[in-house]
Amino acid sequence: MADLLHSQLVALEDRLSWVKTDPVDWKFYVQLFSAGITLFESYLIMRQYPYFSKKAPPPALASEFSGDVFHKSQVYGRDKARFNFISGLYRGGLEQIILHYDLYAWAWSSAGSLLKRFGYGTEYEIPQSIVFCGVLYLLFTIPTIPLDIYSTFVLEANHGFNKTTPGLFVTDMLKSWLLCIVLGAPFLAAFLSILRWAGDRFVPWLMLFLIVFQMTMVVLYPTVIQPLFNKLSPLPEGTLRGRIERLASALSFPLTHLYEIDGSKRSSHSNAYFFGLPWSKHIVIYDTLIKQSKEEEVEAVLAHELGHWYYAHPTKLLLISQIHLFAILAFYPVFRHSPLFVRSFGFSSSVAAHPPLMVSFLLYQMILSPVESLVGLFMNFVTRRFEWQADAFATALASTIGPEKAATMGDISDMGDRLGRALVGLHRENLSSVWVDWLYSTWHHSHPTLAERLKALEKLKLGSATAADAAAKKEL
Ligand SMILES: [Zn+2]
Repeated sequence: MADLLHSQLVALEDRLSWVKTDPVDWKFYVQLFSAGITLFESYLIMRQYPYFSKKAPPPALASEFSGDVFHKSQVYGRDKARFNFISGLYRGGLEQIILHYDLYAWAWSSAGSLLKRFGYGTEYEIPQSIVFCGVLYLLFTIPTIPLDIYSTFVLEANHGFNKTTPGLFVTDMLKSWLLCIVLGAPFLAAFLSILRWAGDRFVPWLMLFLIVFQMTMVVLYPTVIQPLFNKLSPLPEGTLRGRIERLASALSFPLTHLYEIDGSKRSSHSNAYFFGLPWSKHIVIYDTLIKQSKEEEVEAVLAHELGHWYYAHPTKLLLISQIHLFAILAFYPVFRHSPLFVRSFGFSSSVAAHPPLMVSFLLYQMILSPVESLVGLFMNFVTRRFEWQADAFATALASTIGPEKAATMGDISDMGDRLGRALVGLHRENLSSVWVDWLYSTWHHSHPTLAERLKALEKLKLGSATAADAAAKKEL
């Protein structure tokens, strides 16, 4: 099996051997694509922008969005679009500068000279790779800090969403930098060691390592990482907790912990999610969601979330990401050993003669960006399908779990209506835009639009009503 895989991969590498021999201006190609994406995304904002000048919501949402809420969401949408337009061009410009001035090569040699000061030469490739990533991280992060400050303290604050204090903003940033070092450095060291140790047979080993890493993060994230930023406290005993526990037990969902998270510490945008290993799951609900919605609506949101679990959506996404990862790794070897490839990004010939693994892998990922854009579009398509499925699941909950279990949960025949009301409520509280350009939405949105979801919920309701009618007629 392993040999078959290996021989296939070697054949693939042979077929692409021109990468090692033909001079291609890879950097130009990456710059061109990066500029193309920046311009395309600016164009999408320009398509979406006029919708924010509309004077009334779409007919389907007219009754849900009163004049005042509609007006506020339009103003918020317009401000956000302007900000995204400017920041998109700024980030795109930054990428162009970094590429044009060969700052990747500069970051590599800076990392080298920094280590030399501490007495470590070029033979210490892994430490140099870690410092290299640190330099790049700062190179991309520091220039965009003003954008983050503006977004948090001007844009979000003007519309009443921001709850972050300047002190919290700074400590959050320092904590995430620290986290990057504490988690990122050992991760990179292990990643590169496996790549080096396994030689040309690295694909299965690296995939195994990444799966183990992901599983570890599932355990570490809620217990170690998230508490650094937020407080998770058990949802207090009461009617809401009772509802969710009954829902979980009716579905045999392995609920071990039910938390409330203080999302309101930073922002009043709201949410709910679940995570964990197959046999032990945690549900986390934002305090903002609990405050903004009625209990039966929160229950409906959770029924939707558990629909994702019921249909194994997270597992399917994991599977897709493994296939994606395999495809990425399979094409890497041909770039791994190509000095010409590394040279085209301005690396000196002495570095390019034996391309450092970190450098060739990073540059390789950059030339994949067109493919990654298509993968992103495909993923939007997949996650949207999953959303429809989860909505349908919540609507048909009563018939899925059967009358006996349904009876333990009170009246759940109106779950679809409740979910619709919850979605409208969340949309209103978040001042999300009600008018959406189709192309903008196709590119950016992983979820269907509110109007689309309400329409589908309505259809499901009609469908189940006619099904019940038909059943009743049959009985007659
Ligand atoms: Zn969902």
